[in-house]
Amino acid sequence: MIAGIHRPAEVHVNLAAIEANITNEMKHLEPDQKLFAVVKANAYGHGAVEVAKVALKAGASGFCVAILDEALELRQAGIVKPILVLGVVSPEYADLASVNDISLTVPNLDWLKEAEKVLQKEDLQLKIHLGIDSGMGRIGFNEDEEFIAANKFLESNPNFFVEGMFAHFASADSNDDTYFKKQVAKFEHMKSLLTLKPKWIHVDNTAASIFNKKIHSDLVRYGIGIYGLNPSSNPASPDLEPAFELKPALSFVSELTHVKTIHAGDGVGYGSTFVADQDTIIGTVPVGYADGWIRKFQGFKVKVGDEYCPIVGRVCMDQFMVKLPYKMPVGSKVVLISDDPAAPNSIKKAADYVDTIHYEVACLLDDRLPRKYFYK
Ligand SMILES: *Cc1c(COP(=O)(O)O)cnc(C)c1O
Repeated sequence: MIAGIHRPAEVHVNLAAIEANITNEMKHLEPDQKLFAVVKANAYGHGAVEVAKVALKAGASGFCVAILDEALELRQAGIVKPILVLGVVSPEYADLASVNDISLTVPNLDWLKEAEKVLQKEDLQLKIHLGIDSGMGRIGFNEDEEFIAANKFLESNPNFFVEGMFAHFASADSNDDTYFKKQVAKFEHMKSLLTLKPKWIHVDNTAASIFNKKIHSDLVRYGIGIYGLNPSSNPASPDLEPAFELKPALSFVSELTHVKTIHAGDGVGYGSTFVADQDTIIGTVPVGYADGWIRKFQGFKVKVGDEYCPIVGRVCMDQFMVKLPYKMPVGSKVVLISDDPAAPNSIKKAADYVDTIHYEVACLLDDRLPRKYFYK
């Protein structure tokens, strides 16, 4: 994958906002609670290593990632704090995780048995967190018997160091806490079966940490809040409001590469879904669905100079067109996503427009777009 450094299309990341978002969350924590910065998926598209460094400065005690490679990327960047891989890593890589001091999630008993074989061969010890499925339906123990057997298996087992136990909420961002409470009860039950003494028992993601205080979590797996985005963003239900300000860090900027007048009857883009009924000024932006700017953005208004201009015609793979209110010069600034949460092209508004959540809009922004970092 090559980043387009000779094209005017960039993702800008305000590291001051990232730092402020973490600092504000740290103030909100209980005195004995730790913060692990969730920097999976290239820090939700913001750049894992850069975000991780700011998180350390702001007081993060460790990191969560989704896959082993993301953990290795942080280690290669010189980060020495704890790193937990939240997804299931094949037990064949237990040795690789161990020698890099990376903690892995245990999804079930079979996984432990397979990992033990690998670790025994090389006389290694692996740090682990026991995953609990308290109702997310994804990974982790959900049966008493198997969990009790796993505890037995791990007691005085030299190949494992049980560092944590955790579960994940399905609906901590919802007004309705019925299912949340059910998950809390299931987790408390699984905790009562524990014979081991892990240092960190944790359940909080951003939403559980800022909206719900019904269960203690030794550490908060703080993800979306780092990036200044409200985890409660379900278009179908009213948003819960966080107790402190979240400052969006990401903006997406480009420039007009071409401007022209088309005439009545002239079409724009594949399928000519837009046809001019009079002389119309069309600007071209060098960004398309290959950058993660999906075809559903047709009709969305981006800011060109000081004007919000609708995308006309279908979004192409590498370019899209906008209807301009007057002739603007080539090189005019285009803001596809603004970091101002009140702007009509905020990431939340963009996500609403394409029927998704801002997590997805940010993650889709491709590696072809260079990330530029600044403090503002
Ligand atoms: C992604 C993830 C998080 C972070 O969630 P946010 O909503 O971004 O705070 C926490 N825990 C687990 C298990 C995750 O997969």
